[in-house]
Amino acid sequence: MNQTQNESADWFQLFCQKHKFNVRTRITSGAYLHSYCPHCQKELTEGNVLKLEVINPAGETGIVELSPYLNVYERKTDIALPEGEEVRDLRCPYCHKSLKLKGRKCGLGDSSVAGFLVGVSNVKVPFLICMRIGCPWHTIASEDQDKIILDESDEW
Ligand SMILES: [Zn+2]
Ligand SMILES: [Zn+2]
Repeated sequence: MNQTQNESADWFQLFCQKHKFNVRTRITSGAYLHSYCPHCQKELTEGNVLKLEVINPAGETGIVELSPYLNVYERKTDIALPEGEEVRDLRCPYCHKSLKLKGRKCGLGDSSVAGFLVGVSNVKVPFLICMRIGCPWHTIASEDQDKIILDESDEW
């Protein structure tokens, strides 16, 4: 039953090592981030929403819509997502594979994180978000992490 987790580790390693950026790229707050499923490559952003399947702490399956704009925290959902609790899983709404990343933790605590791909300078890089409801933590993961700077991140 560990197949999904192994797959997620594979795509993560692959996309972390794939790109070499020649220039520093700074992504400013409010920038629209096109997001993609790392498993089926389908775009998860559509118009003004980033749509994910969510399993809440009670084990119910629903849809959560997040803002695709960097550092804009908006959330719409059709199931109960109690603030401060960790969701059981975040999944692609198309292929239903888990986006949870094993062995990675939120930078603001010990919550689990989920990852998908975002388009930066014509390539796709892993983007991680915290699975604790209401936690604002997110980061770009890349071999060239020092070349891609997110607004208001610790690097500045
Ligand atoms: Zn998918
Ligand atoms: Zn967190």
